[in-house]
Amino acid sequence: MPACKICKRIIPTMICPVCKEKGTNDYKGIIIIFDTNSEIAKKMNISEEGEYAVKV
Ligand SMILES: [Zn+2]
Repeated sequence: MPACKICKRIIPTMICPVCKEKGTNDYKGIIIIFDTNSEIAKKMNISEEGEYAVKV
């Protein structure tokens, strides 16, 4: 599945439903955020639980 270049979400379609931007398949790693208060979520600026690309 592609990832959004802007919000880094893993998205089921080529267009991100949040940003309305085209996703890319050229990304590295997937991280699953369960807790938006965790260090990693803060570091990546993630405010919603879900699957994200580590590097887009
Ligand atoms: Zn997005």
